Amino acid sequence: MRFSTGTPLKNVVSIVGCLITAALLAGCGTTTTVARGSASQVLAEAEEQKAAFLKTSWERQARLDDLAWPLLTSARDLCGEEVKPRTGLSLLAIDTIGKDYQPVARSRFGLSETPMVLHVVKDSPSEAAGLRAGDKIESIAGQPVATGKKATKKAGELLAKSIEGTQPVYMTVLRDGASITAIIKPEVVCQYPVVMVQDDSIRAFTDGDVVYISTGMYRFASEDRELQLVVAHEIAHSAEGHLDKKAINWGIGTFFDVVAAAYGVDTQNAFGKAASQAFSQDFEREADYVGMYILARADVDTTEAADFWRRMAAEFPQSIQGSYSATHPASAERWANIAAANEEILTKRQGELPLLPERKE
Ligand SMILES: [Zn+2]
Repeated sequence: MRFSTGTPLKNVVSIVGCLITAALLAGCGTTTTVARGSASQVLAEAEEQKAAFLKTSWERQARLDDLAWPLLTSARDLCGEEVKPRTGLSLLAIDTIGKDYQPVARSRFGLSETPMVLHVVKDSPSEAAGLRAGDKIESIAGQPVATGKKATKKAGELLAKSIEGTQPVYMTVLRDGASITAIIKPEVVCQYPVVMVQDDSIRAFTDGDVVYISTGMYRFASEDRELQLVVAHEIAHSAEGHLDKKAINWGIGTFFDVVAAAYGVDTQNAFGKAASQAFSQDFEREADYVGMYILARADVDTTEAADFWRRMAAEFPQSIQGSYSATHPASAERWANIAAANEEILTKRQGELPLLPERKE
């Protein structure tokens, strides 16, 4: 406290203010003797929680990769030129991990300067080649992998460079002290990687190249087939070239969401453009429709797919009616459209007809 030589009244007010504050603090303060962990316990727990974060992030991305793979494969014929030979392998070295997380990444997960197989996608060429998470990568196509700085990026680039169509790629890995050669036969799939984004809002979007799923959406769409519905919808946006068409027609590149601004998520100002409103709704309907075929082609059961929108409406009742958003069809309409698409697919299955979306003449 500091007394000034200024006006006496001001001083009095100031002193009274302090007294009142002190009294309040004493009166409203804690009254228990709080049990507190030691500083070393806090430090140890921080490491534990960092490990939990890394493990959770990697497991979620791995599950997403596993669920996306059959869709990217089944949608191949719908993706036109947007296909690439892929191996279904994710690799990682310590260089990509933030400094704070490096000690725990080393001690708990065995990360080092040498790129390691982080995940082998289920039913992918890498799985068929016998690769396993934890394998340390020694060489790709006869070239030793770089270690240390930018090791992850360099290994990724070397792998990409080594893929020539569906020609086998030889990879040497170290497992339990033994050197093993794996022969990976890449598979041509839709080229969009599906990436988890740390974001609590319930959203999914694509920029035409990559499909992004928020952690909020990951938790909301908790069942495998629900996550696949969302991923298929975003693949459909890209496969149908919605982003290009939009850019050509409106002079803007934009994001498309499953959920979007109507649910309180601000998704790029492009959604506010009245002129593009009907257009966006049509694209959303088309992505829902084509997405259903992507699911069906991957043998995902689409019978209850529409119920995703019931769950969404239960959480966000403002989405039920048509008036809530100009950019996305209402959830009630989306439910009905998806149910209709399911009927169409079932009829085709019964008639053993090709599972392809119906096109305008
Ligand atoms: Zn969409």
